Amino acid sequence: AAIEELKQLDRKHYLHPTSSLKQHQKDGPAQIFVEGKGIYLTNINGETFIDGVSTLWNVNVGHGREELAEAAKQQMMKLAYTHSFHTYSHEPVIRLSQKLASMAPGDLNVSFYTSGGSESNDTAFKLVRNYWKLKGQPNRTKIISLERAYHGVTVGATSATGLPTFQAFANALAPDFYQAKPFRTNAELGDKSDPDYEGSIRGTIEKLGSENVAAVIVEPVQGTGGVHIPPAGYLQAVRALCDEFGIFMITDEVICGFGRTGTMFGADNWDFVPDLMCIAKGITSGYIQLGAVMMKESFRDELVEMTSDIFFHGFTYSGHPTACAVALRNIEIIEQEGLVANSLEMGKELEKGLAYLEQTFPFIGKARSIGLMGGFELFKDAASGDKFEPSMRIAHRFAQACLDRKLILRPIVYEGSYVVAIAPPLIITKQENDKMFDIIADAAAAMQKELGL
Ligand code: PLP
Repeated sequence: AAIEELKQLDRKHYLHPTSSLKQHQKDGPAQIFVEGKGIYLTNINGETFIDGVSTLWNVNVGHGREELAEAAKQQMMKLAYTHSFHTYSHEPVIRLSQKLASMAPGDLNVSFYTSGGSESNDTAFKLVRNYWKLKGQPNRTKIISLERAYHGVTVGATSATGLPTFQAFANALAPDFYQAKPFRTNAELGDKSDPDYEGSIRGTIEKLGSENVAAVIVEPVQGTGGVHIPPAGYLQAVRALCDEFGIFMITDEVICGFGRTGTMFGADNWDFVPDLMCIAKGITSGYIQLGAVMMKESFRDELVEMTSDIFFHGFTYSGHPTACAVALRNIEIIEQEGLVANSLEMGKELEKGLAYLEQTFPFIGKARSIGLMGGFELFKDAASGDKFEPSMRIAHRFAQACLDRKLILRPIVYEGSYVVAIAPPLIITKQENDKMFDIIADAAAAMQKELGL
């Protein structure tokens, strides 16, 4: 009865983020979770699930870490909150900023704080536009992102997001955002014979006029768009392209950061340093809201030099002391427990598991992963690339078949591709990984039978 009451109240009073409103009004919440421990989540009915996507790709150190609760408690008892406007400061934000500087690629030594990924990306857009304005180039406002990119849901971040569903929801987008075709390495290197040259970042810069372009933003690995890993040399080519035209390169490391791809940051897999780097999610493993924009020290120095007025950008919760204290402890756990190395090592197990699925089931193909960020696609026939009809809702059905077997995965549908994403907490063991793949194989076998494949 208590469960029924909660469901009714949820239906009546709670508008869920990124969800089916109709389904919710009909059925109420799909799950009510009450507890988390390690890679497991338990719902109100006492059923336990493997959290195969680290919830929203963010619970990197796993659920139920008392150290993080303790860090929050200690900071809350001492000084839960103070702002850092007007250069007021406090130790957690100072220590975290130093720590991040020591970890981040190259000379990304300065941090500005937000409460999440969308705010970080919006901040980066405003920072580069402000820079160009101060530099005497006020028309340099255009931001180029990629198709399939996900950068969040604030107005700016949605406008940069290259997923038509999110853009359509907004109805009116912010001006000066453009999407280029993803991963056209040769085109970015200047190869005009590439059939997609015009739609590439380079082609888009040429079309817009480089003097009007403020920045290019890319995810090192595209996540929400379907787990797409760039080909070798792509990110370096984008870096070189930005240098060639004097345009800023922003990377969105909201998912990739803090060990997800087997290195501390996604950029560490490739040899480049962005001008600005947006982070969130794994910075606190989701225990509390925090995001940041890290920038080159030289970028900050130039802003200082050019800014005579106040720096008019700040959130009430920029550099929240409790969030910073939790982030510091979370990073300490990642380092002490060698979770980046574990992500790399278990990433190899994940890769083996994905290869097994691909070899065993004719409707599974295009498996890919980097560290503990992976996915596979569903086809009527993977060998020929023959696809399912959208009405089959195949990715959702596959994820549901896993959920029925107590494994949470994430279905992603984009332009006729049906992807199942898998990204377990970085603490996962080989045994747990094997268990996860046993469940997927069992679900796949059942689906194969059901579909008569
Ligand atoms: N950027 C990327 C790459 C993301 O995956 C996300 C969230 O999934 C965001 C930005 C938005 O972050 P938030 O939801 O914290 O605003």
